Amino acid sequence: MTIKTQNISLTSLTLAELEPICVAMGEPVYRAKQMLSWVYEKGATAFDQMSNLPKNFQRQCAEQYQVFQTSVGAIAQTAYGTEKVLVHLPDGNVIECVLLREGKRITACVSTQVGCAMACRFCASGIPGLERNLTTGEIIEQVLHIKKHLLPGERLTNVVFMGIGEPLANYDNVVRSMRIINAGWGLGIGARHITISTVGVIEGIRRLAHEGLKVNLAISLHASDDVTRSKIIPLNKKIGIKSLIAAAREYFEVTGRDVSFEYILIDGVNASKQDAESLAQVLKGIQCNINVLPVNPVEEFNWRPPSEGAIEIFCNILEKHGLVVTIRKKKGSHINAACGQLRLQRGKFLWKSEGYFVK
Ligand code: SF4
Repeated sequence: MTIKTQNISLTSLTLAELEPICVAMGEPVYRAKQMLSWVYEKGATAFDQMSNLPKNFQRQCAEQYQVFQTSVGAIAQTAYGTEKVLVHLPDGNVIECVLLREGKRITACVSTQVGCAMACRFCASGIPGLERNLTTGEIIEQVLHIKKHLLPGERLTNVVFMGIGEPLANYDNVVRSMRIINAGWGLGIGARHITISTVGVIEGIRRLAHEGLKVNLAISLHASDDVTRSKIIPLNKKIGIKSLIAAAREYFEVTGRDVSFEYILIDGVNASKQDAESLAQVLKGIQCNINVLPVNPVEEFNWRPPSEGAIEIFCNILEKHGLVVTIRKKKGSHINAACGQLRLQRGKFLWKSEGYFVK
């Protein structure tokens, strides 16, 4: 009797898991590597494209497994080379991933959940709440969809877990995905080129420190005192900045990797000179980078970015304290690439009249 495993895609399996499956189907163990090389190197999306596999085995696989579970819907582009891809999941849900181009650095930004439970007050993804976690395959396929969309001569260099969802709230699937992205038989992207971004799931940060993965950790800090941070990120009420900073220190001590702190500047909320001074005190003595980004206006919230002059003053104060600061450009805002916005707006998104490209 054929076991129905149609909901399992090759993208959700590791080499160590696929090898015994091939052997159980009467094939040599090396078939597993051949199959994964079709998926990750040659971009195959169906078993019948894997021309060095016996026809009978291709048919057997197609009866029991899938190569991909997801498909690409709309794609929005900007003049900056940023592209946002809407991905349809097998249960009818949709998520999004983003392709970012900055010189030779080409990054896939992936989602980890359908919706999000964190309800951060600058983010559209939290508005509908959490529907479910993404599977490993659904995460990996976003990277593969982006890879397929690259222009001739382009190479995917980085993957960031900064799309919809809190990655550390879907810990097992995210860590598994990172291992596949990092593996030589997988996407082969070095740990230094993989970044996971969290609003501060402390237990997850501590576990991740001991996974042996040494990926980059970015923490969405956005305030230097608990009252302001809790207004921006409700989860902060349960954790507090002190414990978060302690977890960040532990991550650095165990992995030797600098931690990045993301700081969204919101006019009248966290962007004053005093806020900069207080942030410098909170981060004193920590080996870190600070990424400053003016808030991306979201229709549902009433927050606005400060003036360019105010942003410069804020960053100068941090630098005077010896902190490394980068001002991030709002590349994605033209296509509503603050996380969750494309998904929220599907149906009312005026693709053609806005000058976007639709596939
Ligand atoms: S910023 Fe991240 S954690 Fe917060 S609501 Fe948005 S997706 Fe969730």
